[in-house]
Formats: sequence, structure tokens, C-alpha cells
Amino acid sequence: MKLEGIHHITAITADGQENVDFYVGVLGLRLVKKTVNQDDPSVYHLFFADERGSAGADLTFFEFPGAPEGRAGDGMVHQIGWRVASEDALDFWAGRLGDAGIDTLRGDGGLVFADPEGLGHELRVVQTPDEPLVAEHPEIPPEYALRGFDGVRAYAGAPERSEPLLEALGFERGGESGEWEARGESRGGLLGYDAPPGERGLGGAGTVHHVAWASTIDEHEAWRGKAMEGGAHPTPVIDRFYFRSIYFREPSGVLFEIATLGPGFTVDEPLETLGEKLSLPPALGHLRERVEATVKPLRNPRQVRT
Ligand code: ZN
Repeated sequence: MKLEGIHHITAITADGQENVDFYVGVLGLRLVKKTVNQDDPSVYHLFFADERGSAGADLTFFEFPGAPEGRAGDGMVHQIGWRVASEDALDFWAGRLGDAGIDTLRGDGGLVFADPEGLGHELRVVQTPDEPLVAEHPEIPPEYALRGFDGVRAYAGAPERSEPLLEALGFERGGESGEWEARGESRGGLLGYDAPPGERGLGGAGTVHHVAWASTIDEHEAWRGKAMEGGAHPTPVIDRFYFRSIYFREPSGVLFEIATLGPGFTVDEPLETLGEKLSLPPALGHLRERVEATVKPLRNPRQVRT
């Protein structure tokens, strides 16, 4: 039994419109689901991904309007790594992000930047047999587009505390980088730890809320047992409608989720128009009028184009 890499990563934004403008308009992802936070239906939960809304390329945001900016500290993810195909792609992104007013730092095989709220990203040139997960954008040649997650990096003062759980979850530590990899039959995803900065972390806009690892539907229940064997305290299985989930905190402090590969985002709207309307899972359907009166309408650069 192996986890199939990263399923999704969820972060926090204070401004849904700016968030859509950056992740769709600049980074070229597709808004594949516009729904509400199931634990607080008064605020948006926005899902950005590749063209098909695939696990492995799905970055999601809870919108807490006006939330102060946070900062990553001990026990928090501080960087999201995305795969790109080539050094030429890094050149393209250095130019495109620069044009959008985003500072970038070019390193060895990577391009580091932060989104407008300070959420850290790195584009990494990665050779992998995994299928590229790409969204379409008229200004972004497909050969330069983001291809899905490579991994996340978190701050941890004593990352060895996480080893027993990661081993119980089938992660394997790789080569020189010392990063952990969860690799299943279809995909792999990395987890790395860095020494924390001096300042304490603060949850808020521009910080990662949790990282979800992918499981087949059949094996999902069994991962609860594995997590407990590794010393974690997983929640019961929660039906999120688009997938099923369990949550637990790993010993370094990062909130983990294990989510199922399916049923997926086409369960309540067709692939062609994913994310265009406000979607509410059936359990929240009765709140539609109230939700529509509360959340601000969002302009999607992708719909404006077509
Ligand atoms: Zn999640």
C-alpha cells in the first residue's frame, strides 16, 4: 500500500479575487471548483488545478476576507514545489512573473518566488515518468506550463520526530536531498524539512493550512490504521463530497490529510464548465441563498477571455 503523492495543498487567502487573478491569470492554473469551506460555509473554498481538476495539481484556498498576513514558522509548510519541464520554462516564468510585479530568485534548477500574500513557491525542473498535469492559458505555451506538484518543504526544529510516522505511512527517504517521498503507482510527491527561522510562525493569509496525500478509494480506510500505528490520531473518515478525507497532525507540526482519488470535481458539474458556478455539496445545498448573498462574486480571468 502506497500513497500516490500529493492530492492537494490548502492555503489561506484574505482576498479571493486577488487570489483568482494570480493563480488563474498569472500562473495559468484553472479554477476547477468554486465552493465554500465545509466547516464555515460563509467563506469561499477555491480549488485551482490542471485542465481536468486532477489530484496532484490541486492548490486550494480558504478565503478569510481581510485576514492578516501570516508567516511560516516551525511546524509549517513554507514552500510549494511545482514541476516544470526545462530551464527554458524557468526563463519564461522569470519574465512572466517579473511582468506581474513578482520578484523571483533563480537557483540551480529552480525559480523561487512568493505569491502576492507571501506564500512561497518554487518551480523546479524535474525529470519524471509521472503524467504532466497542465492547464491551458492563451499566454502560456504548454511546454512551459506548470505540470503539477513536486513536493512541499516545511520548517521543523527536530524533523527526526516525524520519522516513525512517515515510515508507517510508507514514505521513503531519498538520495542526497534527504527529502521524503510518497510514491505510488501513478505519482510521487516529496516532503522536505528545513531548520525553522527564529521568529514564531503565524497562521494567516499566505500560509499553508494542510497538505493532503492521495489514496485510492479502496485503501483509504486502511490508512487510518497505518496513521495510528505511526502514533498519529486521525479523525474519522469525513465525506467531503468531492473526496473522502482523514486528518491528523504529524509530529513536526504539519497538518496532514489523506484524501481519496475520486469521485472528483466532475461529480456535480461537467468538465467543460468546472468552477464557473458556485458549487455546494448536497449537505449544504439548503444554504445556497444565504451563501450567495454573503460571498462576493468573483471575476474569473479565464471566463472573461472566452
Ligand atoms: Zn484538504
